[in-house]
Amino acid sequence: MDAALSPYNRTPERKREVIVYDTTLRDGEQMPGIAFTTEQKLEIAHALADAGVREIEAGYPAVSEEERIAIKEIKHTTSAKILGLSRCRKEDIEACAECNIDLVLLFIATSELHRRWKLKMTKGEILEAARKSIEYARNLGLNVCFSTEDTTRTEIDFLHEIYGMASEQGVRRIGITDTVGCADPGAITFLVRTLKTSYNLPVSLHLHNDFGLACANALAGLDAGADAFAVTVMGIGERTGNLSLEQFVMAAKYMRGVETGIDPSKLQKVAEVVSTHTKLPINKNQPWIGENIFTHASGIHAIAVLENPFTYEPVSPSVLAKERRILLGKHSGRGVLRAKLQRHGLQISEEEIEKVLLEVKSAGTREGYVSDEKLLAIVERVRKDQ
Ligand code: MN
Repeated sequence: MDAALSPYNRTPERKREVIVYDTTLRDGEQMPGIAFTTEQKLEIAHALADAGVREIEAGYPAVSEEERIAIKEIKHTTSAKILGLSRCRKEDIEACAECNIDLVLLFIATSELHRRWKLKMTKGEILEAARKSIEYARNLGLNVCFSTEDTTRTEIDFLHEIYGMASEQGVRRIGITDTVGCADPGAITFLVRTLKTSYNLPVSLHLHNDFGLACANALAGLDAGADAFAVTVMGIGERTGNLSLEQFVMAAKYMRGVETGIDPSKLQKVAEVVSTHTKLPINKNQPWIGENIFTHASGIHAIAVLENPFTYEPVSPSVLAKERRILLGKHSGRGVLRAKLQRHGLQISEEEIEKVLLEVKSAGTREGYVSDEKLLAIVERVRKDQ
């Protein structure tokens, strides 16, 4: 039973590869209370590149001289393509040019809310600012991905107007942004399909997780033909965060058979580096990187897992370079206890099993779970008492 995927899950149908671009160093850093030093940024970028991430949004060049130094250093020391964010402003575009960015993520807000309350600009003014900025960036020799901000709350007619203009201006990619994470999979399917059929350009998705739908939306986008996906390690980012690197890589690979070029066995290491530098603990129940994902404590589950791990595991622990743990505790039964003792080479009578089980349950109730060392100590004591 060491196949990576349960035979009962969907089998991969087609070989397809999509781009994952990591924005831990930009959108991730916008999480309240987080600021990375240059050294920390480099360490994170190198861990990402080592895991197979081929595009890294290394920062927001216009922010500061220090930000630009970090971006340049990341560009010099990794093989990943370096992306940089830019508003539709000359100074932002020039900062990207200074950093020799491989792909400028040029954006402007388009929804009625943002037009009225943030930009205080008309549709015509926004269209003109975007057109001028794309032209300026292209004249500086930069490759441009053009995104609308708050795409998912923008009128479709205006989206066509602005993406149509961007595609005529020679951008390399167009981006959909679910700025406040309020789209559902149906909406993302519609938007991706619309852009894919209207423009002959790769489409990228930048998804937030306010309704907890970022990964479901990404899968819907993947199915609709999206080409590139913005992610952050552990899903960090503003408010409730972004599409998580781990969740997207695993869902694309094991639910769709789509490759990202990222090695799942390196995901834990990347998460640990980010967890250290953000001081954000990895939750025990966090998908793919949490301590509990291959841990079984319930007696019924544990005994089934010993027979066939896929009964209670969607993929093998080896995929993520992890190990399965079967914990004894108050939910344990005779079956799993017997199996555990056999693994330790202990033959034990039925009478002893009953006594050991009683002690395991009471220790489990007191302490949460019973480690192997503790179990062996219990067995020894039970035997001595006889
Ligand atoms: Mn964002």
